Parts: sequence; structure tokens; C-alpha cells
Amino acid sequence: MLNVAWLLLLLPLAVISGWIAARQDQRTKKRKGAGEIPSAYFKGLNLLLNEQPDKAIEVFIKVLEVDTETVETHLMLGNLFRRRGELERATRIHQNLIARPKLDRHQRSQALFELAQDYLKAGLLDRAENLLLEYAEIENDPEPALRQLLYVYQQEKEWDQAIATAKRFARASGESADEMIAHFLCEQAEDEIGKNRPDQAKALLKKALSKDPNSVRANILRGDIARDAGDCRKAIRYWKKIESQDRRYLPEVLGQLSECFKEIGNQDAWLALLNEALEKDRAIPVMLKLAEEIESSEGSSAAREFVIEELRLQPSMHGLSRMIHLSAVQAEGQPKSDLETLQAIIERVLKSRKNYLCEHCGFRGTAMHWQCPGCKRWNTVKPVWDDSDE
Ligand SMILES: [Zn+2]
Repeated sequence: MLNVAWLLLLLPLAVISGWIAARQDQRTKKRKGAGEIPSAYFKGLNLLLNEQPDKAIEVFIKVLEVDTETVETHLMLGNLFRRRGELERATRIHQNLIARPKLDRHQRSQALFELAQDYLKAGLLDRAENLLLEYAEIENDPEPALRQLLYVYQQEKEWDQAIATAKRFARASGESADEMIAHFLCEQAEDEIGKNRPDQAKALLKKALSKDPNSVRANILRGDIARDAGDCRKAIRYWKKIESQDRRYLPEVLGQLSECFKEIGNQDAWLALLNEALEKDRAIPVMLKLAEEIESSEGSSAAREFVIEELRLQPSMHGLSRMIHLSAVQAEGQPKSDLETLQAIIERVLKSRKNYLCEHCGFRGTAMHWQCPGCKRWNTVKPVWDDSDE
């Protein structure tokens, strides 16, 4: 409640300083009748003393004239209200400022920006957008406004505008926005896939890859489109590209790859791909997939041996669970039921495990997000199938 105390101190002071400024103004201009302390000031003070701070604030705001001397005070008050969550009051102060013809260009744009912050906080994105556009125009594309416009367009899923704004942001900040733009194009491609327009989607994905040649997402989608069109060979080609882009994402397509290799009847190539991937970084999902394939082709005993060997190289809860499962398959009677109980317990723990981590803000999730739900950055959430601390 510190802000309330500040406000209560600030308001009478602001009124008085406004009054002093007005008096000086009148003196220098030698106008008739010097100003007097407005009676509303005493009314406001009375309300304060009677512990009616809300009414006092209303009275003080009314009496605090807007002129070049008090614009700063108004902006400060508006911000204080916004921080207290009193958005209606903050909005009123900022609207009141903008309506004044006396403001110079800079003051007006400042008030526009502040009012946009009120609207953003209130979730009135359309209104915030209009003000931010006006502000960006007046101030020649300042970064904070473009950043917020990007936020608005992403929330509203206005991808064309998001792309145009990202380009402006890149020019203004000198930072590359290519990765972000590639994601916006992928979003548009997903919309087209949803509307069953694969050709439009393919064109957008091509553009996405020209913006960001490392766009894993674009290749996943290109593979999905090829598979849906019945071309498994092409789908495999696209998904395999992920290996050279960022291998950490390979587990995201293991299910699809497995189905497509079965479809084309090339199990050897599939096993070779898994073995090669496993050699590179012993990723747990790759190991589990390979164990599954060995179990179905050579039986549970061979799969169990494989998993035990892998556990020696890379201990993991997932591997342990699979080993217990494979042991249970071979066991009988009481030991079998004990092992099944044990595996069920471990699986329950693993199910709640968050296998996706944002490298930027540390957000952890159970599903893949191309845009981090925590920090709203793109490409920062990675699959982490290890036993690191959560
Ligand atoms: Zn994050």
C-alpha cells in the first residue's frame, strides 16, 4: 500500500505546486487578480482527513490543471494508478492529457504511450494497437513501442502485421528478426494446413526456410504435408533434415518417422538412422524408440540387454522403467506382479515430468512450445529428456 501513501502525499503537493506555477505565470504576464489556493484543495484535504482517500483523489485530480508545468505530474500520477491496478483512473488521467490542445508534440506522444500501457494492462489490445501505431509514427519507430506492437499482433494472431512489424523492429534495433518471422510464416502455414490448402502452406514454409534455414518447425510441417499427401519418402527426407538443423528436436518426429519407414518397408534404414542418432548424443527418446524396435523384431530379452547396456552408458529413469518392463515381460508369478507394480509407480512419476525447458527463462513444460509461454521468445524451449533437476 506504499503507493497509496505516496499518492496522498503527492496530490496536495501537486495541486499546490500547480497553483504556485499559475500564480507566477499570472505575475509575469501581469494578469489581473493573482490566483488563490483553490477551494477544492481544502475540500480534498478535508476528505483526506476524514479518511475518504478515494474521494480526495477525485477532487485533487479535478483541480490539478493540465498545463506544460504539470504534464509530468499527471503522467506520474497516471503511472502510479496503473501500478496500483487502478486502470480506470490511470486511463482517465491520460485521456484527459491527450485531449489538451496545449501539449507539445513530445508531451502528447508520451501521453499516447502511457495510455497505450493502460490499455495493454487492461487487455484492450485493439485500442493499445492504435495508440502504439500513432506513437511509433510520431517518434520514428522506437523499440519499446514496436516490441509491444509485436506482442499485440502475436496475441491477436495477425501474422501479416506481425511480420511487417518485425521487419520495422529489426531496422530500428539492428537485431535480426528472421527467426521470429520464420515462425510467423509457420503459423500462417499451419492455418493453411487447417484449411486444407497444402500448396499455400508449402509456399509459406519455403519462405520461412529462406528467412531461417534452421527452422526445424518448417521442416516438421513440410514432412507432415508430404505424409498427408501419401508421400512417405519425401516426408522422411524433410524430417531427416532436423538432424543437421538441431538434433535436439529429433525426438519430436520419431513417431512419424517410425510410421513412414514402416509404410515404405525399409526397416533397415530406420534402424540405421536410430543407431546413428544414438551414437551422437545418446538421447533418451531415441534409445527408447530403438528398444521398442528391438523388442518387436528380436524379442524382449534382446531389448532388455540393449537397455541395460544403454543404462550403463547413460543412467536415466526412463531407461530404468523400460528395463523393469522388459524384465516383467519375462518374469512369472509374484516377481512379475511386483515388477509391474514398480514400473507403474515409476511411470506415474515420469508422466508428470516436464521434459521441455526454456533456455532463456527456465520455464518448464510437459509439451513442446515454439514460443515460450513464460518469456514469449521463439525457439528457446528445447526437449530435455535427461534427469536434470526440475
Ligand atoms: Zn522462456
